Amino acid sequence: MEDYGKIKKLHDSLQKKEFSCEELTKTYIGAIEADNPALNAYIHFTPETALAAAQEVDAKIARGETLDILEGIPMTLKDNISTTGIETTCGSKILEGYRPVFDATVWELLRSRGAVLLGKTNMDEFAMGSSNETSIYGGAWNPHNTAHVAGGSSGGVASAVAGNLAVYGLGTDTGGSIRQPASFCGIVGLKPTYGAVSRYGVVAYASSFDQVGPIATNVEDTALVYDALAKQDPRDSTSRGARELVCDTLKKDIKGMRIGFAKQYFDGVRDEVREAVERSMQVYRELGAELVEVDLPQLSYALPVYYILSCAEASSNLGRFDGIRYGYKAKNYSDVNEMIAKTRSEGFGKEVKRRILLGTYVLSAGYYDAYYKKAQSLRGMLVQAFQSAFERCDVIAAPTVPMTSFERGKAAQNTVETYLTDICTVPINIAGIPALSLPCGFDQKGLPIGLQLIGNSFCEATLLNAAYQFEQATRETVFRAAKMGVR
Ligand code: GLN
Repeated sequence: MEDYGKIKKLHDSLQKKEFSCEELTKTYIGAIEADNPALNAYIHFTPETALAAAQEVDAKIARGETLDILEGIPMTLKDNISTTGIETTCGSKILEGYRPVFDATVWELLRSRGAVLLGKTNMDEFAMGSSNETSIYGGAWNPHNTAHVAGGSSGGVASAVAGNLAVYGLGTDTGGSIRQPASFCGIVGLKPTYGAVSRYGVVAYASSFDQVGPIATNVEDTALVYDALAKQDPRDSTSRGARELVCDTLKKDIKGMRIGFAKQYFDGVRDEVREAVERSMQVYRELGAELVEVDLPQLSYALPVYYILSCAEASSNLGRFDGIRYGYKAKNYSDVNEMIAKTRSEGFGKEVKRRILLGTYVLSAGYYDAYYKKAQSLRGMLVQAFQSAFERCDVIAAPTVPMTSFERGKAAQNTVETYLTDICTVPINIAGIPALSLPCGFDQKGLPIGLQLIGNSFCEATLLNAAYQFEQATRETVFRAAKMGVR
């Protein structure tokens, strides 16, 4: 089946009884059994619960009821999204065997609409990483070339969706973890405005940055899932929901839309990526959009601001993993302090420990003003910079990542260099604004390149509209090639 508008097509086929939901689910279960050993996308596979959900959908079809658009569609969740009774490990030893007793709001919303959960997908430990290789379960690999990573931290979702092991999935994005793997795997990933989607039940990394969002093969599916998620939730005081349904205006003409570009976004970007993004600007011009240059010199502060503030928040959030409340507990200890210290030393991986230490340092007395406070004030400056840019344009186009997917093992070789590859995505989380990545070409090795579209706060409708028109215009050239899986 062609990827474009996949959810709608599957929905129509289910409703017309061309195949049953059980048959559809079994096809995905078979694909996971065949291809997951090569991709390592799923870490908790749940075929029984998927089939039980599918049978409920089939019973509804048999009764002649009309299905919700997301009903019966097989999907996946990143493993930091709480699911009652289903392991939720965040790719960490410290949460091994942990089964939540409640559902995250995002999963509750989809489950109540009849989504069929195939399982939980791999991720960098506690969402810290860019290659998925900090996971205790090992990396998730790229369906375009399994010698390369799927990206991170939502690498498992991207690998599963691009490898056709799920129709769509939910990831989380604190500094790029939805957009970067979507870019590496040639699919679409949306990081919503901070507060558009509830974070209740999502294991926190850096609470003032974290957002949940959809990863899918095409823009229409991304929009459908986003509309289902963006609801105000009384259990998350930062959640506000969406202003409007993005699906209502998805297919609008974009003549006269102002697409901004900032030269600072192209510093240090690999030639093939820069050229693909420049070609994309040309596509917009042909669609009748107006190209506007904007200035964002503050972007150079984004990486240090992100790594200081996110580590500070992580050091506090991860304090709750103490061997008493969840998952792993050290075996030999003489008192409670030793038990906590041993549990944390044995349970957390290297990258997580590095960030807890960094975060504790920048928050400690004597360094707080020099690092944390300074980073907070620079955060305010970045928010302002984007606000003034959006006075001159509706959407900003930029690369998602300065390069294409890394080879296996490369990210671990140089931590600082890997941090630097987050340069295009982290400014968005700092500013709390929405952005998505969608495929815009391939490099010489056949690895996908992502175009990042950035919107103003709560302007997801404009963002997805711009993305949809780009996708339509490049359907033959970009999207056909993006359909490859491992089979
Ligand atoms: N790569 C970034 C990091 O390592 C992004 C993480 C994220 O968005 N969860 O922090």
